[in-house]
Amino acid sequence: MIYLDNNATTRLDPRVLEAMMPFLTDEYANAASTHPFGLRAHEAVKLARQQMAQLLGCEPQEFIFTSGATEAINLAMKGVAESYSSRGRHIITVQTEHSAVLDVCRFLETQGCEVTYLAVQPDGLLDLATVQQALRPDTILVSVMLVNNETGVIQPIQEIAVLAHAAGALFMTDATQAVGKMPIDVEALGIDLLTCSGHKLYGPKGVGGLYVRQRKPRRVKLAALLHGGGHERGWRSGTLNVPGIVGLGHAAELCRQSMKEEAARIGALRNELEAGLLAIPGTRVNGNREHRFYNTTNILFEGCDSDAMIMGLEGIAVSNGSACTAASVDPSHVLLSMGMDETEAFSCLRFSLGRFNSPEMLVDVIDSAQDIISRLRGYILA
Ligand SMILES: *Cc1c(COP(=O)(O)O)cnc(C)c1O
Repeated sequence: MIYLDNNATTRLDPRVLEAMMPFLTDEYANAASTHPFGLRAHEAVKLARQQMAQLLGCEPQEFIFTSGATEAINLAMKGVAESYSSRGRHIITVQTEHSAVLDVCRFLETQGCEVTYLAVQPDGLLDLATVQQALRPDTILVSVMLVNNETGVIQPIQEIAVLAHAAGALFMTDATQAVGKMPIDVEALGIDLLTCSGHKLYGPKGVGGLYVRQRKPRRVKLAALLHGGGHERGWRSGTLNVPGIVGLGHAAELCRQSMKEEAARIGALRNELEAGLLAIPGTRVNGNREHRFYNTTNILFEGCDSDAMIMGLEGIAVSNGSACTAASVDPSHVLLSMGMDETEAFSCLRFSLGRFNSPEMLVDVIDSAQDIISRLRGYILA
C-alpha cells in the first residue's frame, strides 16, 4: 500500500506508541487521583500540555485536551456563541471550511445565531475585502481555517485576525492540518482559539485539543459542552485520556524537532509527484500554488471520474473530497466553492504526503495514474 492520504489521517509514529505504552498497561491510574500512581499520570499529562504549549507558543493552561478536532470545534464555537450572546449573535466563516465547522454553524443558526459563509476566489484564497465587508458590530467570532484539508490552500489568517479584532470579534482557526507541520505562534498570528487533532500529526486517534486565549489582550470566555467533574478548567469534564494525551504531546514534540527537515523533504516529494502528474495532458492543479501547504496536491484530470480513478489506482490510497464527509456522494463543497461545476469536481484527486512516504513510491504512482487515465479516456497517453 502506497499511502498518500495523510490529510485524512496519519500513521501512528512507532515512537509515539512507545511513549504511550506504559499508560496503556501498568500506569493506568486516574490523573485526578492523589495517590502516587495518580500523580505520575498527572505529571505525564502536565508534560504533554507543556509540549503542546511549546509547539503553539502559548501557556500550558491555555491548552485543553479533547477527543479530537471535531469536539474542539464544537466546544469553541458553541462555547463562544453562548458566552458572548449578550454582545452579538453573528458569526463569520468560509464556505471551504471543514464540515465540522460548517455543521456547527448550521446548528448555531437553529439556535438564533446568524452566520455569514464567505465565498473564496477561484484559487481558494479568501479576499480580505470580503472579510472586512462582512464584519458587523454584532459579529462575535470569525473562524477561518489555516490550511485547507482538500487543496492545501493557506489562508492569510494573521491579516484576518487583525480585521476581526478591530471589529471587536474573536478570531478562531481550525489549524488541524497545520499543527506540527508548520510553525504556528498564536501570539504572532493573533489567534484567540485554535483546534488540532492527534491523528493528523502521527499521534493517536481520539485525542486533540483546543487553545483558548487567556492572556492579554483578551481572555476568551467559553461555556462548557460537557458538564461533570470539572476537568480541564471546567470546559471539558470527563476522566482524562492519559495514553492519548501522552501520545499527542509526544507526537507534537517529535514534530517540533523535525518540522523544518520534514517540510523540505515532503515538499520536494510533493513537487516531484505533482510535476509527474501534470506532465499528463488534460490536468491542472486546484488552488493557489504559492499560498499552499507543502504536502498536498489536488489535481483535476479531465474526462476521468474520481471514484473510478480511486478504484483503478490499486494499492494506492488517495482521495476525492474529504474523508470527513464520510462516504458522501456529493461533490466536494470546497471545489464547488472555488467555482467548479459538478463534473469538474468529480474529476479531481487529492494526494497528501507525509512522514512515511519515500521517493521510490512516486514512480509507481505516476505510472499507475497514466494507466488508469488512459483506460478511462479510452486512449493511450504518449
Ligand atoms: C481532520 C480534520 C478535522 C476533524 O478532526 P477529528 O480529530 O477527526 O475530529 C477538522 N478540521 C480539519 C481541517 C481536518 O483536517
